[in-house]
Amino acid sequence: MPIKEINLFHQHGRQFVPDLRTASLPAIFRGRPLLDASILPEEAVRVKQLCPTGAFGTGDAPGTVGDTGCYIDLGACVFCRECEFALPDKIRFTNDHRLATNIRAELIVRQGEDRRITLDESRIRKEIRILFRNALKLRQVSAAGDNATEMELNAAGNVNFDMGRYGIEFVASPRHADGIVITGPVSANMAAALQICYDATPEPRIIILAGTNAISGGIFAGSPALHREFTEIYPADLYVPGNPPHPLTFINGILDLLGKP
Ligand code: SF4
Repeated sequence: MPIKEINLFHQHGRQFVPDLRTASLPAIFRGRPLLDASILPEEAVRVKQLCPTGAFGTGDAPGTVGDTGCYIDLGACVFCRECEFALPDKIRFTNDHRLATNIRAELIVRQGEDRRITLDESRIRKEIRILFRNALKLRQVSAAGDNATEMELNAAGNVNFDMGRYGIEFVASPRHADGIVITGPVSANMAAALQICYDATPEPRIIILAGTNAISGGIFAGSPALHREFTEIYPADLYVPGNPPHPLTFINGILDLLGKP
């Protein structure tokens, strides 16, 4: 082989992530946040006013009762870092990319907490692990997505991340799929198409909400242009936060759901 090509290979290094389960991201990545226990109530109120999506809150979060202090709801957070800029000594986004879970309330990161976000094993439907553990075909539905999450999902299948090594692939037709991955805030215009796609997917089918927009509507939450009844009627098997989610967040979330080591 010519010397020039050999040198090029050396410069490029490895083109794939050898182990997706242990791969870490650089410190610049915005992953699971930490809210210091010393955040004062008046500081929390100030930050709350800055947050563009209502992800930063005080007291009870969606799905929780009797809580005090402040929190960030990763299902609504767009990772803009405005809260971190406002209180740089007390709010910090770590590079922990393992953010996916099957419990909506698990996406609430409370003040003073420093714990990994995980799945509740008891809530995973048995048939998911029996049928899809070694091969999972997914149909992606962009329900008014902005192509950000869609691009990251594409990247999950490229040579770097190569989720196909686990038998996880996107397919063109819902009739060939084991589940759907929804991106985007679900506009009224896409509501019927989403339902048709879901109905066309054979049972048992799984639902994955990928990205902040799909989980909560993101910055579009409350817009009359949205029609999110689908996400209220059908419980999600997996929530994958991020705006957009990183391929490692998506892939590791699915592997956790499937019970892969
Ligand atoms: S990073 Fe998240 S919680 Fe903080 S201000 Fe932005 S949207 Fe709100």
